Amino acid sequence: MCKFFNSVAGVALAVATVSSAVAQEEAGPPPILFTNVDVFDGFGPDLIEDANVLVEGNAITQVSTDPIEIEGAFVVDATGKTMTPGLIDMHQHVMLNPPEGTAAYQTRWDDASGGAIAIQYINDHMLVKGITTVRDIAGDPLDIAKAIDMDLIRGPRIYSAGGAIGQTGGHSDWAGRNVPPHTLENGLDMGQATSNTWVADGVDDVTRAARLNFRRGAAFLKVMGGGGVASEFDPLEILGLAEDEVARAVEIARDNGTYVAVHAYHDESYDRHLRLGTRSFEHGFLISEVMVKRMVAKYNETKDIVWSFQCYMSVKSFGSYETMPDFFTHEQKLKGVAAGEGVRRMSKWMNEYGMFIVGGSDIFSPGLVEKIKEDLTCNVEAGFSPAQALKHWTGNAGIVLKWSGPKDPYPTYKLGQIAPDSYADILIWDGNPLEDINLILDETNLQLVMKNGRAYKNTMVDSDSIMYRPAVREPQMHP
Ligand SMILES: [Zn+2]
Repeated sequence: MCKFFNSVAGVALAVATVSSAVAQEEAGPPPILFTNVDVFDGFGPDLIEDANVLVEGNAITQVSTDPIEIEGAFVVDATGKTMTPGLIDMHQHVMLNPPEGTAAYQTRWDDASGGAIAIQYINDHMLVKGITTVRDIAGDPLDIAKAIDMDLIRGPRIYSAGGAIGQTGGHSDWAGRNVPPHTLENGLDMGQATSNTWVADGVDDVTRAARLNFRRGAAFLKVMGGGGVASEFDPLEILGLAEDEVARAVEIARDNGTYVAVHAYHDESYDRHLRLGTRSFEHGFLISEVMVKRMVAKYNETKDIVWSFQCYMSVKSFGSYETMPDFFTHEQKLKGVAAGEGVRRMSKWMNEYGMFIVGGSDIFSPGLVEKIKEDLTCNVEAGFSPAQALKHWTGNAGIVLKWSGPKDPYPTYKLGQIAPDSYADILIWDGNPLEDINLILDETNLQLVMKNGRAYKNTMVDSDSIMYRPAVREPQMHP
């Protein structure tokens, strides 16, 4: 991180002369001291009132209600405002944003257009709206992530699963009905052509797909444990990868020091994955109260599993036949209605029994991507407190991201917290989202978006001050 940070620090003074820019680069940017700010630390439940927060380089180094004395700091008075960690969307698909749904790559869009749309959306509807990290959980934005880290384009941090792994006819299989069956070798499927998904049958296919993902920089694996709402051949009730295939995926993930996340809806697939060592459980909207209790008991015993809640897509978008995306078929809409009914039951049990939860929107494509933050407000409508909703999207998420171990692309500091030794991913809100979570939907209330110590949105201080750090490096001319 630091090498990129230092290389762009001089650009903070965008209009400086060459010599002063060089001097600034050598000296590094000044520390930034936020004063008198009410802090949501990522866990809550209460704010730390009238706190002072020091950012040095790309990290938060001090959080204190006592004055912080620091030489040469740029001071930002944040009296009356609320600071939260940058939001973390734990279930994203940034490469699946072309119009007309996930199968659009089959018919109308190539992967270059997919990347172009992704770049636009991750800036306009994620980063500048305060989502500073995404866990991308099917799709392969690994080279986009690399370009972001090199400051070539703007966007959030990305933890990617690489291509999601599923069986022929499962939720990874987006080929048209009349496209011949395909394998990893012949690459006929759009998912394989763009690495967005892998269709894998048998432990050897799973091994190869998993290792290809890790070779490209995946931070964890995503596998398909059952049917999906948006795919064509797989009723929700079916099981996905077989026992030996799941066991192999878990083995390869563990060999790499990281974990498996599963797409699954019901007890049978949750049971299989609980037994075999999967750690991140997506969706689960059709599971029983008994299974919820088993999940909570396992979490309390081991602290090593999480439920990943897609509130908006399940409760609101899938809530009724009429509200589902237009590109869904009749059968897909019926599956969505079932998921919407189930989630109303099981999310209450998860809350009541105290499951460890992260929030992930699963929101993508035009007309929906604009609503990502409604996943947070949906958590409150579903019965969680605003502090819980924020915790799902910050502190808890940061814990799970660190489960990537040696595959963590951002290993130096903590994420999702306003605390020392955390990346300086910071939002400042005009108002208190713990009192009114809906204020996060009005972008004028979001006055500062800082990622990695640099401001990508800033309506708090004059734009010619040191706080204003152009997010994109000026083109560098070689002498
Ligand atoms: Zn998803």
